[in-house]
Amino acid sequence: MRTAFTVNDMTIHRIVEQEHGFTPLFEFLPTLTKEQYEENRSWMEPAGCDPKTGNVVLCFQSYVVKTPHHTILIDSCIGNDKPRPNRPKWNMKTDDTYLRALGAAGFSVDDIDFVMCTHLHVDHVGWNTRLQNGRWVPTFPKARYVFARQEFDYWSEQNAKAEIPPFADSVLPVVEARRHELVGNDHQIGDHVRILPTPGHTPGHIAITMGRGKDDAVFSGDLMHSPLQTLYPELSIKFDVDPAAAAKTRRSFLERYCDTDTLCCTAHFPSPSVGKIRRKGSAFVCAAV
Ligand SMILES: [Zn+2]
Repeated sequence: MRTAFTVNDMTIHRIVEQEHGFTPLFEFLPTLTKEQYEENRSWMEPAGCDPKTGNVVLCFQSYVVKTPHHTILIDSCIGNDKPRPNRPKWNMKTDDTYLRALGAAGFSVDDIDFVMCTHLHVDHVGWNTRLQNGRWVPTFPKARYVFARQEFDYWSEQNAKAEIPPFADSVLPVVEARRHELVGNDHQIGDHVRILPTPGHTPGHIAITMGRGKDDAVFSGDLMHSPLQTLYPELSIKFDVDPAAAAKTRRSFLERYCDTDTLCCTAHFPSPSVGKIRRKGSAFVCAAV
């Protein structure tokens, strides 16, 4: 499994926590037709869909990017010791896979300068915090945690109505520790890191673009989950807050990077999860590099 990519003056590492069949494909993509799937079954199985169960295979991972100036972790995955009763593979888990993968890539938790979240869903904030003496503390003690203000405000409102566990145990403790920054979409870090607003999956969802003066790499978060969505950008998943906006965002994102040299680093595509966007008919593919 390829886990490191170099592009100009940056190195990108995948830190994989889990990769497995998640939930039935046709529930996950409710408007996917049998015909569309049959056309693509030969390459979707088994890497993108488990033929035994019919479950869509998703990878759950962070990216760590070393720029000439900073070490930046994007999306902090699932986490340990967190009560997630609806997801047995995530619930109260205690394995060392994630921190071992971080170490294997050459990083300790002290090396991370910034943590950035594309959005604040459960599988993108988990390792923001870890349990220490019964309290949630920032996992990366020296990092500034960068959250998009619009996304943070949305989940603050939701959490005020009824507690959202991943927000309460993986975002608010970072705020209480004063390690966070709430930023607008014009935020930059040095001359290498920028934000691309990509609403739909969640209202304040962002992609993160990196490279000196141009997008050598883009981290697309959850604006797409399965390579089927590059071929059929209109397919939204059942967890998209605004499916129509997500579909519009997806097509414009794919058009923006189509036939460029930008490395597209997806959150959930099956391994190797990274590729370049190429045109295919009236749609796109994410071609392995
Ligand atoms: Zn996700």
